[in-house]
Amino acid sequence: MLTVEEALELILGEIRPMGLERAELLSALGRVAGEDIRAERPNPPWDNSAMDGYALRAGDTAGACEESPAVLEVAGDVPAGSVFRGELAEGQAVRIMTGAPLPAGANAVVMVEHTERMGEREVAVKRPVRTGENVRRRGEDFAEGDVVVPAGTVLTSRHVSMLATVGRPYVSVFQRPRVAVLSTGDELVEIDEPLGEGKISNSNGYTLTAQVIECGCLPVNLGIARDRKDSLEEKLRAAASADCIISSGGVSVGDYDLVKDVLAELGSEMKFWKVAMKPGKPLAFGTIGGRPAFGLPGNPVSSFMAFEQFVRPALLKMSGHAALSRRTVRARLTRDVKKKRGRTNFLRAVVSYGEDGYAATPLEGQGSGMISTMVKANALVVVPSDAESLEAGSLVDVQMLDGGS
Ligand code: AMP
Ligand code: MG
Repeated sequence: MLTVEEALELILGEIRPMGLERAELLSALGRVAGEDIRAERPNPPWDNSAMDGYALRAGDTAGACEESPAVLEVAGDVPAGSVFRGELAEGQAVRIMTGAPLPAGANAVVMVEHTERMGEREVAVKRPVRTGENVRRRGEDFAEGDVVVPAGTVLTSRHVSMLATVGRPYVSVFQRPRVAVLSTGDELVEIDEPLGEGKISNSNGYTLTAQVIECGCLPVNLGIARDRKDSLEEKLRAAASADCIISSGGVSVGDYDLVKDVLAELGSEMKFWKVAMKPGKPLAFGTIGGRPAFGLPGNPVSSFMAFEQFVRPALLKMSGHAALSRRTVRARLTRDVKKKRGRTNFLRAVVSYGEDGYAATPLEGQGSGMISTMVKANALVVVPSDAESLEAGSLVDVQMLDGGS
């Protein structure tokens, strides 16, 4: 049996990132930057004022106080968006607004609250001002040529702020993989059809499609294939244009488990593994014409989990992401956990954050058909393969399934 880490390494070794395309800045939200984006100008673009007040030469205010202010000549006015032409001479000040460029000759700004205007021509400054006070220096945020958004970054509103600041209406992003999803089984009916005797809803088709969308990929629905070679072949051939194929069911050793045979016939390099994990042991993986294909187990939780551990990182790598794993934190177990040695267990759990850090409570009902605990859980506790029992209070790795606390 392969370990989870070995299986993931083998899979990722076969995955290549997609090509790039150009996207308008706001359409690029949630997409992955395809190149290191460099600033073509520094920020701020010039020295400017951090306050409304007067730009001046700091030296002119030495020793100024309420009783004996420094009286300076007002040489002009620079509202935001305009520039003071000329150079400030000794004994002069210029009225300036937040963000306006610092006039040549000035080296500080005094807040308007520390001044008193004396008619049109003069201003009294009531305290000494330090050189550089209330001045934002050219390039203090970033310099021209700096990488402001590295390749592989998922673009959020924070990155949009940066790209708008440096004047990038378009960005290069990774193309989104098209991912075909196939369900297999004679027992499956569509979710809006009545359940006949012995039939179940094709829930995996929906779960996997939703997981594909959550990864930022484009799903292609292949529907349900029956447990016959011709049905499987027909459906899988329809996946020819997809960048990746995922099927569920039909990969264990039951009589009707044909998926691995058909995938092998379609592709030269299918591998069939038992992965030392619970839930989700059987897994078929290979490449068909260079495109990854995954045969996931049929039990709903196993299928979900195999996607989480193997397909998600693969799709993120195809999509150009720099980070492929879920946010993982160390958490303290709130109760004892028992398991058999030899397989990594992924336990659906509720994780919360409190004064003592993260606490993880594995839920009752870890069976591979138990959907209710998938819904209650916000995280997966990773119990290492070689562990047999863990006591309450032990520290474990926890994969966070959502962004919540
Ligand atoms: P299999 O590996 O095909 O034997 O499937 C294992 C279990 O998963 C069986 O109980 C199936 O009924 C169930 N199963 C397989 N495919 C699906 C699906 N698309 N949706 C829900 N359950 C499924
Ligand atoms: Mg089946």
